[in-house]
Amino acid sequence: MLTIAIANQKGGVGKTTTAINMATAMAATGWKTLLVDLDPQGNASTGLGIAADVRDMSSYDLLIDEAQVDDVAIATGIPGLDIVPATVDLSGAELELVAVEERAARLRNALEKHRGHDICFIDCPPSLGLLTLNALCGADSILVPLQCEFFALEGLSQLLQTVERIQQRFNPSLDIIGVALTMYDRRNRLTDQVADDVRDCLGPLVFETVIPRNVRLSEAPSHGLPALVYDHSCVGSRAYIALARELIGRFPPERQAA
Ligand code: ATP
Ligand code: MG
Repeated sequence: MLTIAIANQKGGVGKTTTAINMATAMAATGWKTLLVDLDPQGNASTGLGIAADVRDMSSYDLLIDEAQVDDVAIATGIPGLDIVPATVDLSGAELELVAVEERAARLRNALEKHRGHDICFIDCPPSLGLLTLNALCGADSILVPLQCEFFALEGLSQLLQTVERIQQRFNPSLDIIGVALTMYDRRNRLTDQVADDVRDCLGPLVFETVIPRNVRLSEAPSHGLPALVYDHSCVGSRAYIALARELIGRFPPERQAA
């Protein structure tokens, strides 16, 4: 299973929207897809229509109780897409993990044993705490959504330092598969300026595809649906389909088909 953590410690940059729609796009292309909701806010779970009262087990059980993925994953309404939902317990996990052995490797231990999905996306919380650390230790790659706004690059340097430390200490093969510019508004000149700066600074790491600011993307979660299902032809959905295609192109050649 190829595992991709969607991470940025900055809040509200489009991590969850990217996780839900990339997972849906991959599932639609025939990849057996798993989404692990690692954010106590549970936005990815809610956005995929998983009501709080059906979340019997969750990513908390993976991290703390050493549950198996098969015991905690549930089907979504999207064919080929399963989710390990998040519950509010997860906010306690950050503290509970401090006391357990191999506290950074709990998620990796669970995912390593798992067969049955081709690809896994992890939706990270907006912090660089132990939950995100578990995601980055368990992942092959990190995908960074970056909102086109003034402080975007400042937060990014801290994230890149964290990735470097994780490569040195826990996960030498972790790579950054790409940076996706989100909430791009072409009428706003600052957005354009930031996008140019980010491309100057990070070069080919930045995906060609940009995700536009699009109201359909923000409406979809309130219907418990990925935008790709809610309105598959809106500009936001089309951008995520293009991003998924670009992402697959960055996989190792032997992994480009499900
Ligand atoms: P958090 O850090 O709180 O987990 P996040 O990084 O996961 O946030 P999202 O929840 O995906 O970010 O997005 C933040 C808000 O912006 C949400 O209300 C979402 O619906 C909206 N949003 C995300 N991407 C877009 C977009 N391209 N166009 C319009 N609205 C968007
Ligand atoms: Mg989120």
